[in-house]
Amino acid sequence: MKTLGTLGERETIRLIERIIQSDASIGPGDDCAAIDLGDKYLLITTDMMATKSHVPKGMGPYDVGWSIIAVNLSDIAAMGGRPIGLVTAIGITRGHPIDFIEQMADGMNDCARRFGTSIVGGDTKEHDDLVLCGTAFGEVPKDGLLLRKGARAGDLIAVSGQLGRAGAGFHSMKKGLGLKEAEDSLRRPWPRIREGIALSQSGFVTSCMDISDGLSASIFEMSKNSGMTYEVDYEKVPKAKEVEMAFHDLERQKDLVLNFGDDFELLFTIKREEEEPLAKLAKECGCPFTVIGKVTSGEENILIDMGKREKLENLGYEHFRTRQ
Ligand SMILES: [Mg+2]
Repeated sequence: MKTLGTLGERETIRLIERIIQSDASIGPGDDCAAIDLGDKYLLITTDMMATKSHVPKGMGPYDVGWSIIAVNLSDIAAMGGRPIGLVTAIGITRGHPIDFIEQMADGMNDCARRFGTSIVGGDTKEHDDLVLCGTAFGEVPKDGLLLRKGARAGDLIAVSGQLGRAGAGFHSMKKGLGLKEAEDSLRRPWPRIREGIALSQSGFVTSCMDISDGLSASIFEMSKNSGMTYEVDYEKVPKAKEVEMAFHDLERQKDLVLNFGDDFELLFTIKREEEEPLAKLAKECGCPFTVIGKVTSGEENILIDMGKREKLENLGYEHFRTRQ
């Protein structure tokens, strides 16, 4: 019998998408769904966390609460939206201490408030594991909607912030390396709400998504959506300083930067002539935006590493499949 393990997460989602009939302007397949409200779009996204697959040891209840809100807000940011509210559903065992749920609710509330929104409702059920589901709502003016598709050959590829920090944090927690900043960024993801809105308003961003499952997986998704190929220059990819503290081995560093995920930075494309305005916008936002390559109409996605061209494989995190 074929199981979900043979399909993997992405194919499982596609299977569901083939069955579902969506009426939304943007249905399943982007960071958020978008529903036409006349002069603007309502954005809706939902994301789950379960103790088994999502909560590294070292993450406390406050962090778990913060994270479920942050990952949902990150999808609103990816569409250029402003968050307007969230609901959360909590499955939890009867054996959990009361202060666990208090701290978790604190984390949820603090994250929502920090990014200018609030939790407006939810549901709780008894469950045999901790399972959290967040649903975020946002709004975006019609001409500001950012999608995974839309890039054209010649556009430049850019990312916000630095990559590999959350991955370095994961290894630091696992091996007790004490890379505090990196561990914090894994525990408390930071949705790029302000940056997403600025990119949306700039008028020169041609596509965008957030990097939840790793750069290679996000490049793969954008490439699939736009029908274009992407050429990434590895040396230009901004790497968190903790990456080389987590691993001496260059190949392992590369794996961390390209494939680990959980950084929740924005990956986007801009028109070729807009590199200077992008630098200006980065200054205004107080967040680095770095050009890391270009969109092409080639055969496959390419990674250039020290002048050598290789195929950029999609090795990002995928559920139902085992991470080596
Ligand atoms: Mg996303």
